[in-house]
Amino acid sequence: MYNKKLVIIGGKTILKQTRNTKQRELVLKIIKDHPMHPTADEIYNMAREIEPKISHGTVYRNLNLLADMGKIRRLSMTYGPVHYDFNKEFHYHFLCRKCNKIFDTPIPYDNSLNQTPENMNGFKTEWHRLLLIGLCPGCLKLENDKNEKTKDIK
Ligand SMILES: [Zn+2]
Ligand SMILES: [Zn+2]
Repeated sequence: MYNKKLVIIGGKTILKQTRNTKQRELVLKIIKDHPMHPTADEIYNMAREIEPKISHGTVYRNLNLLADMGKIRRLSMTYGPVHYDFNKEFHYHFLCRKCNKIFDTPIPYDNSLNQTPENMNGFKTEWHRLLLIGLCPGCLKLENDKNEKTKDIK
């Protein structure tokens, strides 16, 4: 798209803006490619592998910007750091207690839980969340292998 304003403010600004856009796209791509809901630190480490010069501040700034733009969702647990989610639809999550990764579940979002104020003693529900906790397939396999081994020793 042709942007008249950009041309007027001059070459230096255009260069800076292009760099900013590139860094923002990189952050967004990392979140999109890693559906286990990475934290800011995890995103920063992955970004540095691709763009070694990227700073912690830049990654944080872009995460906030992307979340404010509605391109990603902030997912804050009751404890620990905020995770970032590319999936903007309402959906439920699964937390692996072993590796602490968060996964999307195939469970359909249950709109019937968002009751009207009449049915909720005047409380208006806007959305709800559900967190399932257990072991992810990878950690479950490790756990089963370990159990197999201890069985052999006995
Ligand atoms: Zn796990
Ligand atoms: Zn999710």
